[in-house]
Formats: sequence, structure tokens, C-alpha cells
Amino acid sequence: SESAASPAIADDKFLVSVEVCLKPSSTARLDDVRTCVERMLETRSLSYSNGPVPLPDNDQYLLENVQSICVCDTDEWVKNGEVLLFWQVKPLVHVYQLSEEGPCEELGGDGQHSSFNEWALPAKEFDGMWESLIFESGLKERLLRYAASALLFSEKGVNPFLVSWNRIILLHGPPGTGKTSLCKALAQKLSIRFSSRYPQSQLIEVNAHSLFSKWFSESGKLVAKLFQSIQEMVEDENNLVFVLIDEVESLAAARNAALSGSEPSDSIRVVNALLTQLDKLKSSPNVIIMTTSNITAAIDIAFVDRADIKAYVGPPTLQARYEILRSCVQELLRSGILKNFQDKPLDMLTFPSLKEKLLSSEMQEAGASLTLSRQLLEVAEACDGLSGRSLRKLPFLTHAAMAHTFNCDPIKFLCTMIDTAKRERSER
Ligand code: ADP
Repeated sequence: SESAASPAIADDKFLVSVEVCLKPSSTARLDDVRTCVERMLETRSLSYSNGPVPLPDNDQYLLENVQSICVCDTDEWVKNGEVLLFWQVKPLVHVYQLSEEGPCEELGGDGQHSSFNEWALPAKEFDGMWESLIFESGLKERLLRYAASALLFSEKGVNPFLVSWNRIILLHGPPGTGKTSLCKALAQKLSIRFSSRYPQSQLIEVNAHSLFSKWFSESGKLVAKLFQSIQEMVEDENNLVFVLIDEVESLAAARNAALSGSEPSDSIRVVNALLTQLDKLKSSPNVIIMTTSNITAAIDIAFVDRADIKAYVGPPTLQARYEILRSCVQELLRSGILKNFQDKPLDMLTFPSLKEKLLSSEMQEAGASLTLSRQLLEVAEACDGLSGRSLRKLPFLTHAAMAHTFNCDPIKFLCTMIDTAKRERSER
């Protein structure tokens, strides 16, 4: 049967994550809120599809404490916008409160601020990041499942000599394709999903490149200091620690440059110190190491070879470009930068439903949203080769190129966007 093929099934039900975000002001116990939401879900016989669940307006306790309730991951089980019915679902309720502390740069010390950043997770800055990232072929889900399995194996004390796995992830691909953001968003997700096992969670971001653009002697000390504090975090077994190392290829580059004599040999020591420390860290069950690289060829660094998941993150495909741009245009409609037809909020079509519409014969009754969506498809086609980062900037550049600054006509806007896209491509 179909259900037998799905991994996340308990008692013949689909496991669906429900994320509950507390208000910043709430002092409620997470467990109490979880129980309350579970009861609420049980009594309301909801159908499940991705997205927000409205709060019941007669539940004072939830209204006081909860900011939002969101159903996640149903896309894995249902295609074509179908929904799961309540009796098919076993909801997994995760309650969390966003940290508003912002990045803490203490680790860098002495004015050397840009090498490291530390966040308490889940952080306000990363709220919504996961949803905003668009990749094809279930990359996000694959990473999430991978990391979740790795954490589970650790937690259950699976003997690594008998079954081997590690907690190292490498994302590589051209710049601006969302690798760093994906790591941060993944850490945020995991901190929420694993909050009952690990009540605290941190993300430490190390920019490998910046380590070497500083004075090497200082870098050595910084690395030592950094890992000392990471080690301290890791020793608390209630802590889940994510170490993100960006532009990891610069480690290899620095080592090679030092070997060829073009850089001081201090840099070798920094690289080696970093690798040794990472190796040590790897054995802790509550650490996940995430690395990114803009080089797609093999990166010759010992620990990267051992990464279990090496995922290539390429330039966005047509579908991904369309969806990224759609979220941009939707935001401009919401904020009133673009004019809504007849002052009704316009819902643009998703890529699959646009394709379906274009194939079907009911094309004649072209409503505003279909017209606009078709035009957006043209823009997406014109954006072939642009990175996710460029795409997210395109609407702004387009707006800046236009004479009308407020309440633009969306059709005109999209026309201009094609020109802007062409210019961007030619200037690359
Ligand atoms: P990289 O680490 O690959 O250089 P970043 O994570 O720094 O890329 O991406 C920069 C920004 O570009 C992101 O914050 C996001 O706004 C946008 N972006 C890049 N790729 C995507 C994508 N696949 N989907 C949505 N937005 C993206």
C-alpha cells in the first residue's frame, strides 16, 4: 500500500510537524502549551496542509501565549495541494520561543568582529528563512531528515564502530545560491524540532576566509579561544551546537599558499589547529558541523572528505526562479508597492498550477492572476543563469528603474523586470 512506503509513519498515521511559536512576552511552560495545542488539534478535526493554523478565538490561554501555529512538511506526503485529514495524521507539536538577543560577537574579541558570530537558537533573525528558500528536488527535506537521523543515532547511543555516520554536512556550488542561508535555516529548524531533547541550542558561524585575511598570529589565538568556548558549550549535554564554517575552500587555499611559500607558514598552523579542533569536536553527539564552499571541484581538506552529506546547490531552475520571484511580487503586492487589481489582494499561481492552467483549455477566461502569473513566467525565463541572491534583488532594482514609485501597475512592473533581468545578465 501507499502508506507502507512512507518512512515517517506511526500506527498507520502520517507524522506531521506542527510548530508553535510563543509570543516574546509569554512565560508559559513549553510543555503546558504543547499539551494545550495537542488537545486543540484533537478536538478541531482539522485537515492538514502546510501553513498557518488560526488560533481558536475562545481559548484565552493560547491567545495570550501563542504568536503562531504552523503546519510543516505535509508536502512530502501530499501532492497537488491535497490535504491530509485529521484522522490520518499524528501531529508532532514543537513549541518554541524566538531569541531576540541577536548575534553575540564576544568570541571575536578585541575588535576582530567579523570572524565569528554566535546566536542563541531559535533566533528571531532566522525566522521564516527556511520557508523563503526554494530549491528543487526536496533538498531541504533531505537535509532535514539526514540531520534528524544523525542526531537520533547519537541520542540513542548507536555504536559508531558498528554503524558509522557523522554529523558533517557540506554544501557546495556557485555563490549566491543560498548555501549559507540554508545552513542557518536548517540549524534553526533542528533547534525547534529537537527542543525537547536539547532545551538550548547555539549556532556559531566561522568565516574561514576572514580568518586568513587577518593577522595570522592573531588568528591562531582566535581559533583556540573559539574552540575552547565551543567545547564548553558542547560539554553541557542539554546543548545542541551547530558550527557553520563558510567558504571552507579558503582553508585549503591558505594551506597551499603557505606550502608554496607565498603566505607565512603561520597560516598552516591556523588551518591545522582548526582541523584538529573540528576533528575533536566531531566525536561529541550534540554537535553538527556545517560547511559551505563556492568551489564545486573537489576540496582537499581532510574533514570535508568525511562529510556524509555533500550536496551540490546549483543555480535556481526555472521553477525555483519562478517561485522566488513570485514570493517577491507577492510581497510587493502585500505592501502596496504594486497596485492590486480592484483593491483585492491578488494571489499569483504556483508554478505547478500555472503549468496546469497553460495546458488546459480553460485559458480563455484569463483573470488578473493568470495574466500576471504568465508574465512572471516570462520574467523567470529571462532570468536564466541568475543566482537566488540576484533574483531577490531584482524587484528592487526594477522598482528603482521606474518612474512611478508607489502603486505601480504590476503588468508594467513585470515588463520592466524583464529588461532589468537582461541587463543584470549582461553585466555579470
Ligand atoms: P551562498 O551562501 O550560496 O553564497 P547565501 O545563502 O548567502 O548564498 O544567499 C544569499 C541570499 O540570496 C539569501 O539570503 C536569499 O535571500 C537569496 N537566495 C539564494 N538562493 C536562494 C534560493 N534558492 N531560494 C530563495 N532565496 C535564495
